[in-house]
Amino acid sequence: GESSSLPDIQASRLQLSPTGSPKSLPQASGLVFGHTFTDHMLTIPWSAASGWGAPEIGPYGHLTIAPSATVLHYAQTVFEGMKAYRDERGKVTLFRPDMNMKRMNNSARRVALPGFDGDQLLECIKELIRVDKHWIPSQPGYSLYVRPTLIGTEAAIGIHPPQDALLFVICSPVGPYYPRGFKPVGLFGTTEYIRAAPGGTGAFKLGANYAPGVVAQKDAAHLGYEQNLWLHGPDHHLTEVGTMNLFVVFKRDNGALELVTPPLDGMILPGVTRDSVLELAKGHASKKYEVPGLTDSLVVSERPVTMKEIKDASEAGTLVEFFGTGTAAVISPVDRIGYMGSDVHIPTGPDGMGPVSKPIWKELVGRQTGTIPSDWSVVV
Ligand code: PMP
Repeated sequence: GESSSLPDIQASRLQLSPTGSPKSLPQASGLVFGHTFTDHMLTIPWSAASGWGAPEIGPYGHLTIAPSATVLHYAQTVFEGMKAYRDERGKVTLFRPDMNMKRMNNSARRVALPGFDGDQLLECIKELIRVDKHWIPSQPGYSLYVRPTLIGTEAAIGIHPPQDALLFVICSPVGPYYPRGFKPVGLFGTTEYIRAAPGGTGAFKLGANYAPGVVAQKDAAHLGYEQNLWLHGPDHHLTEVGTMNLFVVFKRDNGALELVTPPLDGMILPGVTRDSVLELAKGHASKKYEVPGLTDSLVVSERPVTMKEIKDASEAGTLVEFFGTGTAAVISPVDRIGYMGSDVHIPTGPDGMGPVSKPIWKELVGRQTGTIPSDWSVVV
């Protein structure tokens, strides 16, 4: 991390203090996303005076922080979300965890929290997952959601870089997002609030980005939509779907399909799933490799897209599909967007997904769970 002589995170200093009272494992079918946590957590303290301390894996439990801790007042908190998968033979893997480590470092620096050696943190996280790997349900579609978090804990009111911080990692066994197959969701195009602005913090995974989104989500739910769609600017550029990146497929005049996602312009979180979908689609389009079932006449674009373009395409019959991407749901098909008083209709295939998302979803999930070998899958 920092160009100082203070210690960085060192996995070799990791200490294990196992719990004396392990919990009984939950029934997999009863799991609600994010509500159940494993027996252990990883904690690593930091201070400006002495750098990163020894990582410790101990019993999952409450933290003790002062009521004056800066995180509680100024939202000095950044976090990550990644999944560990366990295959039939018990092998546990993470999906592109290096990207989460990089993003977390970028997020930390944006709010003046300390940076760290991502490879060393990853080694500590792997050990935590190994300790609690029996918590990963073995049924298909199940995984362990891993939540690294970094907070400012300095016990002082006043806005400045925190002099004390705590990095912790907790783990939650989770089931498939769509247990009964893909169910397309309806989006409400939010015009009253924005999620991000140029020069703001939308490209970072800060706790501060999420609290203001809850009312927009609540309004969308109140109107009968599952998620809200974040728009930006007078032309209502599409940016993100709730807490997912978004993709649109258009049919072009020459019959080719164009897969579009908004560019990383500082207002969009650089999603690991977004990057993976783009990489697969581009790799297929350029014949670097084949994504089985995906059309050969595919164009992949990172470019701005407006609600007018979506509406026009829907009316002209050239809107092929629309989906969100993220670690939790992987791919989430969309069948309508409530926008300025009426619904824009989006076609969905017989099983919810469309001609581009279906083959990409298959390839992606194969690479995540290890049934399709790739160097994106990292053994724990
Ligand atoms: N956008 C936002 C705002 C998010 O919170 C997330 C979830 N991390 C994503 C996009 C998707 O990112 P990823 O594919 O890395 O989960």
